[in-house]
Amino acid sequence: MTEVKQFRLLPPRDPTACKICGRNHLPDKPHDAQQLHYQYHFYFQHGRWPTWKDAIAHCDKATRADWEDALKSRGAWTEPDKTQ
Ligand SMILES: [Zn+2]
Repeated sequence: MTEVKQFRLLPPRDPTACKICGRNHLPDKPHDAQQLHYQYHFYFQHGRWPTWKDAIAHCDKATRADWEDALKSRGAWTEPDKTQ
């Protein structure tokens, strides 16, 4: 396995975009877990790839519940592997 020691992530091309995921969304809304910008930003901070649970962690309880339900109904919900 290759170990990532250091890299620098360029800011999103759109200066009004979220600095964490690179998409335009209100600060209290979920990050886009499918964006490479988000995935690398998260990996740089946490040493693992993000899940949807991570992408909605900063949202309020109702938003988290809505997104979790919607993603689960589409079979798209992901969360960190609890065995790690
Ligand atoms: Zn974001």
